[in-house]
This record gives sequence, structure tokens and C-alpha cells, in this order.
Amino acid sequence: METLEYDLVVVGAGSGGYAAARTARDLGANVALVDHGPLGGLCILRGCMPSKAFLASSDALAAVRESNALGVHINGKISVDMPFIAARKRTLVKEFADYRIEGIETFPLHQGHATFVSGGELQVGENTRLRAPAFVVATGSSVAPVHVPGLEEAGYIDSDSLLELESIPGSVAVLGGGYSACELGQFLARMGAKTTMLIRSNHLLTAADDDIGDALTQYFREDGIHVLTQTHVTRVEKRGSRKVVHYVHAGERGELVVEEVFFAMGRTPNVTGLGLESAGVAYDAAQGVVVDATLRTSAPHIFAIGDVTGDYPLVHVAIYQGEIAARNAVSGTHEEADYRIVSAHTIFTDPQVAHVGMNEKELKARGIPYCVGRYDFAEHGKAMCLNTTRGFVKMMARNVTGEILGASIIGPQGSELIHEVIVAMNYHATVEQFMRIPHLHPTLAEIWTYPAEECAAQCGLRQPVDQMIEMATSGGAD
Ligand SMILES: Cc1cc2nc3c(=O)[nH]c(=O)nc-3n(C[C@H](O)[C@H](O)[C@H](O)COP(=O)(O)OP(=O)(O)OC[C@H]3O[C@@H](n4cnc5c(N)ncnc54)[C@H](O)[C@@H]3O)c2cc1C
Repeated sequence: METLEYDLVVVGAGSGGYAAARTARDLGANVALVDHGPLGGLCILRGCMPSKAFLASSDALAAVRESNALGVHINGKISVDMPFIAARKRTLVKEFADYRIEGIETFPLHQGHATFVSGGELQVGENTRLRAPAFVVATGSSVAPVHVPGLEEAGYIDSDSLLELESIPGSVAVLGGGYSACELGQFLARMGAKTTMLIRSNHLLTAADDDIGDALTQYFREDGIHVLTQTHVTRVEKRGSRKVVHYVHAGERGELVVEEVFFAMGRTPNVTGLGLESAGVAYDAAQGVVVDATLRTSAPHIFAIGDVTGDYPLVHVAIYQGEIAARNAVSGTHEEADYRIVSAHTIFTDPQVAHVGMNEKELKARGIPYCVGRYDFAEHGKAMCLNTTRGFVKMMARNVTGEILGASIIGPQGSELIHEVIVAMNYHATVEQFMRIPHLHPTLAEIWTYPAEECAAQCGLRQPVDQMIEMATSGGAD
């Protein structure tokens, strides 16, 4: 048995672990990375990047189909080449992974399954033990275990296997309504699968505000996706070459016969087999490793970051946490993570959904007095020119002070447009300050000025332009 000593050992070389290792090395620490592979991390291998490569094709297909409205008529046959799309995705993923592996290999890399044998020692594979005064656990997450009776026996695809598809099934039942279910469910539908989404809640994206979730549900339905809300899937069975999904909807039993079932009911943190008990690290099998604001676990020299903490399963959060954990581990500091803005997220459906800060549900739950302004893309000149009029933006601001507390968008380029509010909120901008920032015309981005203006009026900071004109013309304004 070989025993090696480092200043810091990072378990898991995905987005979060790699960021932690680089930060610690920049501070002068002797850092080792441990990973059982495949190397590259979820984002590159089976997450963000392959899914967005797939979505680029279905978005292009939708644009071609909608081009009639712009006077561009495609008279020939539009065909989809799924083997080409899959090969393109593979090439991109390999390119990203090779680049990441190059970076990972600049560290001492120990490949194998990692298990803590004590608070200060980690076993890697059969023959290696690593000792360090500090550790970062960044082992990520996996597709949640299947809990639907009969599904295991009937067979199904999850996000991992969906991203390996070389052909599109004729019909699909999507179990779940979160971001993966929505992005990949819409992909399947646009590529030709007759798609039904079965969800327990009233709308897709349960955690979002009702107006956002309702709008996405409506748009999916308009596009021909059958969304069955308030539906409980009771079991799945195989019938010949088909799969039958049994469900209860509005008290009535129903069954749906499909070619394939896409199980999209979440992910679970990778905590088992890590020997966390031996290291005194508290965790919950469903919620992940418990950390404080400094990313310390119940064993204060062991940190945890990214999906394994179960908090915000997003790449930029894993990186942010990794950098903080590394600084705290190497320097013994107590820098705290602040999720006010970092919890911002986006969903790459069409229309895209994005959010920063607190949504209305959270503001109400916390009893924070706020004002809200909303503006529809259907009223927005640039969106009308582009023929992308579905959706709206809304901005929430603190009553009296007008500080922007949150913003949501469902609409064209939502994942890009949200960044303007992210920057404004980063500097604690008020809606008044936001309104004074020049916006180019005609752009989609200028749509944000309308909810900002409405908020300012509601917060008593400024009257809306219409009202001021009315007052001026009626002699009401001084
Ligand atoms: C379909 C899909 C689409 C997504 N799209 C987006 C998106 O658009 N935007 C976004 O922000 N996020 C997206 N995500 C989420 C994002 O991919 C994750 O939040 C992020 O990659 C998590 O990074 P991580 O460093 O925590 O874990 P990972 O990248 O999963 O890294 C964990 C590493 O630990 C290793 N490991 C695990 N256990 C052990 C062990 N016992 N011993 C040794 N090594 C071990 C693994 O091999 C792996 O390399 C998506 C996820 C999915 C599934």
C-alpha cells in the first residue's frame, strides 16, 4: 500500500472539484485530484454541453418550421439526421473533455474509487492512501433511483441514455416536469416524438412562480406536447413492444401506451461508498452532504461543494463553491458563500426561462414588501419584428428603496437577457438607477426598462411615463 501526503485532496474532478484544485494550487498548496472516471465531469459528459448541442438542432428545426411567418418558404422536404446530430454532439463532447482532461492531468491525479478510512486519510482503489490536513468532496450526483413500480422491468431512458440516442422514438412519456424534463422533453417532441409529460403539480417547473410555470405549460401545449398536470403515475408495464404508463388524473384512472418512457424525476447526490461516516461527515442520502456557509462539513477540515451538497445543482454554483472552499481550506479563513445572485439559473426551453434573486413565491414567504413590474414580449417592438412574441419579463423591487430583489424572464434569448439584471443586482442597483442605464434600440434587452419603470412607479419613486404625460397635458404636473 502506497501512502502519499498532500496539503489538500479534492475528491471528484468535475466542474467544482477542478475549480477547487486550481484555486488551491494558485495559493501555493500541493493539491491532488481523485476521480474514478470517466474524466470530464457531468456538465461536459452527460449534462449541459451534450444537451445544449442536441437543443441547437431542435431549435434550428423549429426556426425553419416557423420561417413562413417571415416570408421565407421552404418548399423542399425538411429532414432530420439524428445520427449526424449524435455524431456532432460526440465530437463536441470529446473536444471539451480532452481539454478538461489536459487541465486535470496538470495535477497529481489518482484514478480510482475514493473512500475515507478516517478524517485524515482517503483510500483510492486498492493500493493507494492519501493523507492531508484538508479535503474537498466534489463527487457530484447521479440520476435518482427509479421508484415507479414496474418501470425498471419495462425499461426506460434517463437523461444519460437520452443523450446517447441515435434515433428518436415514435412516442414518449416524460415522467417529471423539472428543467431536464422540459428541455429534453421539448427536444424529443420537436424531433418528432409524440410526447406526453406527466407531472404531479399544476404546472411545469414547480419551483418557479405560477405565472412562469403556467406560461411554459401553455406554450408546450400550443406546440402539441400533451402535458398532464396533477397526475400521479402509479405503475408502468411492458405490453408487447410498447410500454404502458398507468396514472391517476383528477380521480380517474388512465393509461398511456408509448414506445419509450423518459424518467426525469431528479438526481441524487453521490454520497454512498465514500466512507463519510468514518470521517465524521454528516449527510443525508437524499439531500446530500450537509455544509455551512463556508462549505465546511460537520468535520471542519472536510469541505463539500457542487451537486453532492444538493443545494443548487448548477455548474456556476459548483465552481463558485469550489473556489470558496479551496480558499477556506488552504488559508483557514471563513469566507461565506452568498447565493443572492449566484443562485441565478436558466432553462434552455423555447421560450427560454431564466431567473435571478428572489421570486414572488420567496418574497411572499419571507414577508418582504415588494413591488413588481411586468411586460409582455407581445407588446415589444423588437420581439414583434423578430416574430418571437411569446413570454414576458418581470422585475421585483423592495418597496420604498426600489432595490431590485429579483427578476424572471420567459421569452426569446432569456438565458442571455437575464445577465443584465444579474449585473445590476450585483451592484445592488435600484429600479431608478436601472432605468437611467442607456438601452440600445431596437433590442430585446430594452424590454427590461418597462418593468423597472413600473416598479419605480409602484414603489412611489417615479410616475410611469403615461401618467406623467397625462398629468402634464391635463395641467396636473408642476
Ligand atoms: C441533462 C443535464 C443538463 C444540465 N444542464 C445544465 C445547464 O445547462 N447549466 C448548468 O448550470 N447545469 C446543468 N446541469 C447540472 C450540472 O451539470 C451539474 O450541476 C454540475 O456538472 C455538477 O458539477 P460537480 O462538480 O458538482 O459534479 P460532477 O461534474 O458530476 O463531478 C463529480 C466527479 O466525481 C467523480 N466521483 C464521484 N464519486 C467518486 C468517488 N467515490 N471516487 C472518485 N471519484 C468520484 C465523478 O467521476 C465525477 O467526475 C445539467 C445536468 C444534467 C444532468
